[in-house]
Amino acid sequence: MKIGAPKESARGEARVALTPESAQHIQKLGHECLIETGAGEAAGFNDDAYRNAGVSVLDSADALWRDAEVVIKVREPSDAEVTLLREGQTLITFFWPAQNEALLEACKAQGATVVAMDMVPRISRAQKMDALSSMANIAGYRAVIEAGNNFGRFFTGQVTAAGKVPPAKVLVVGAGVAGLAAIGTATSLGAVVRAFDVRPEVSEQIESMGAEFLFLEFDESQDGSESGGYAAPSSPEFREKQLACFREQAPDVDIVITTALIPGKPAPKLWLEDMVAEMKPGSVIIDLAAEKGGNCDLTKPDERVVSDNGVVVVGYTDFPSRMATQSSLLYATNIRHMLTDLTPEKDGVINHNMDDDVIRGATVTHQGEVTFPPPPPKVK
Ligand code: NAD
Repeated sequence: MKIGAPKESARGEARVALTPESAQHIQKLGHECLIETGAGEAAGFNDDAYRNAGVSVLDSADALWRDAEVVIKVREPSDAEVTLLREGQTLITFFWPAQNEALLEACKAQGATVVAMDMVPRISRAQKMDALSSMANIAGYRAVIEAGNNFGRFFTGQVTAAGKVPPAKVLVVGAGVAGLAAIGTATSLGAVVRAFDVRPEVSEQIESMGAEFLFLEFDESQDGSESGGYAAPSSPEFREKQLACFREQAPDVDIVITTALIPGKPAPKLWLEDMVAEMKPGSVIIDLAAEKGGNCDLTKPDERVVSDNGVVVVGYTDFPSRMATQSSLLYATNIRHMLTDLTPEKDGVINHNMDDDVIRGATVTHQGEVTFPPPPPKVK
């Protein structure tokens, strides 16, 4: 079948869903690959690199959407792109169906099958397709680089002829995929790293990376395992203890990276205005939860603001796109693994097997029906 990637139409999006490398793997499944001219440019892949990998370069989005039987993308389709979708065509992309009900209905009305990469079940077998994790890993890494870029000092401590430099103190709030990547990056740069999460089971992972886990003295269990390993909202008592702990940390830490999220809810406000006011001038806050409203009171999504006392608060929501080459390589790999599962005979024929937990979980429209939300997966 013809698998094609258009140029992303969302403003500022630099990633691409097909790389020359992933195209070679997809061709081994018996498919043909197409790309819109210039689609990989912002991620560092020019048309010639695709041509050398056996990809046909088409000169317009219209031609791409017309010729491709499976369209692969990064961002959910725009209204204009939805009109290009047609019956029998498959679209594989990030889609966020819970937030995009009208879009879901529109894709259904076009008769297309939509596979949402953000809906891939987080079970062991599907890790190779887990685009949420591959992008969160990049966001966590990039958050530290962004912090370094805004921080006027070293991360590591040094003793030099010109004086002794203390190491930077970094606090990471939320130790999911992004938080753990931030912890690993900050410790590798030599910072003193502390971390907190409402799920105490992550303490071992935090400590194994050379960071300190901030334990709260609390008798009520805050284990989020009942919600499938994700966090649940904290009780008011727990929240007060947590905020008291952060108030103690605020004057001491130089960099705060917040990543705390609760599925389906706005981001919890955890780094409050009075904590920012207690921080030293020149300190930096990187709020990776900005898209969901932010963990910090001062966060403005997609902006960098400076508080009255000189604390920089970064609320960018496009960290993976800021590392578009790396993100595209990993995302395109997630996509080609999805295509591998959709092409079990490696004969260039898509077999959309709705009895397969992973394919079923990620499919949000199929054969004229909305198939979201999916039933819970049967296997772990
Ligand atoms: P996420 O992005 O939903 O949340 C980030 C972190 O914020 C979580 O660790 C959460 O506990 C934490 N948090 C929420 N409220 C908080 C608060 N008030 N204070 C401090 N921290 C708070 O998480 P994620 O990165 O998507 O990962 C969540 C879970 O999914 C983890 O258990 C992870 O191991 C698991 N996971 C499993 C797989 C797999 O099996 N394939 C893949 C990826 C992630």
